Amino acid sequence: MSSIRYVIAREILDSRGIPTIEAEIFTNSGSYTADVPSGTSSGIHEAFELRDNKSRYSGKGVKLAVKNMEKISHKITGMDVTNQKGIDNALIAMDGTENKSKLGANAILAVSLAAARAGAAESKLKLYEYIGTLSGNKKFTLPVPYMNIINGGMHAGSELSIQEFLIVPKNFQTFSRALRAGTEIYSDLKKIILARYGNFAINVGYEGGFVPPLQNTEEALQLIQKAINSSGYSGKVFIAMDAAASSFYHEKYFLDRKIYSSDQLLEFYRKLVQDYGIISIEDPFDEDDWNGFSKITQEIPIQVVGDDLLSTNVKRIQEALNKKACNCLLLKANQIGTLTETIEAAKLAMKNNWRVIVSHRSGDTSDSFIADLAVGLGCGQIKAGAPCRGERTEKYNQLLRISEHIKIFG
Ligand code: PEP
Ligand code: MG
Repeated sequence: MSSIRYVIAREILDSRGIPTIEAEIFTNSGSYTADVPSGTSSGIHEAFELRDNKSRYSGKGVKLAVKNMEKISHKITGMDVTNQKGIDNALIAMDGTENKSKLGANAILAVSLAAARAGAAESKLKLYEYIGTLSGNKKFTLPVPYMNIINGGMHAGSELSIQEFLIVPKNFQTFSRALRAGTEIYSDLKKIILARYGNFAINVGYEGGFVPPLQNTEEALQLIQKAINSSGYSGKVFIAMDAAASSFYHEKYFLDRKIYSSDQLLEFYRKLVQDYGIISIEDPFDEDDWNGFSKITQEIPIQVVGDDLLSTNVKRIQEALNKKACNCLLLKANQIGTLTETIEAAKLAMKNNWRVIVSHRSGDTSDSFIADLAVGLGCGQIKAGAPCRGERTEKYNQLLRISEHIKIFG
């Protein structure tokens, strides 16, 4: 048994230039790190991200969370590093709050993920294999990537209200072939945007997608449709959206400079699904508009993904199951704060025949943990941004490594 000797943490930067926390766990065999990502359009039901709210880094510093690591280190020193559940439960108990606001979910998650890396090394397993043992999954499948190629909403300085326009290369034999298709479409889209809107239009947003000067949702969908067709992938690559609708909801929905009721928004989506063959919509309604979610799930036969709605929280997932409010969970470990709870959320969804998409955050780092998480859970889908910007491509590159490992070692 290899026990935890001590844990340290440091303030590092995420891809937006905003501080985040990295934990480093020392065991007898070495040291293992993990970085915590952070959202921009974060939901109100997410676990608490502890920030300093002092003058440095415009209040976004995480020195308090780093400081809390001293207490955490004291608490879990000596624990068996392969006892992930025990470590996570100790962290949850030590915090003692519903939303992890005492120690900070960011501090807690950093340790939880670093412990998994240490536990995998101690067990002489790859991280995805170790996550397989933690979750009870033995079937390692490479996920279908959801690649966000036009950015809007809070992730971009444009007029588009919808946050993410994604392509889904789903009809391919291998992950690398799917990645190539998505990347070729991204590159064709760049040429189309350049020809139509000029140089400035090919700048990218938080998740590596382009931010052309578009006026409305349909213009974005038409551009993507054109890129899919011109690259020869129609019928193999489909369109998905993350509306992130909480960010344009203030008693009514304010989308592309028009006002919609929940029912009108449903009709808007119905038409888009018909006209553009959209296969998946994430957060189509506000995070507490249960009625809107239930209606779309029951009336439109697509994948309805709950992100802010569910916040990777088993209580909210159970409520959504009761209300038939979606059929897919967006899985973000930092919405809940420990790996164990993240795995429980995924298992509850899968047990009820929902699909699961493992997801990055708009503020991310080069840590590729979610690539291993998606394969380890065998959930079949990942959302990691455009094939552009290091913190995004690193997830896809790790999936390429994993796919080779699985090919060689089974
Ligand atoms: C999302 O909404 O799915 C997302 C990845 O954005 P953020 O990290 O800003 O919540
Ligand atoms: Mg989302």
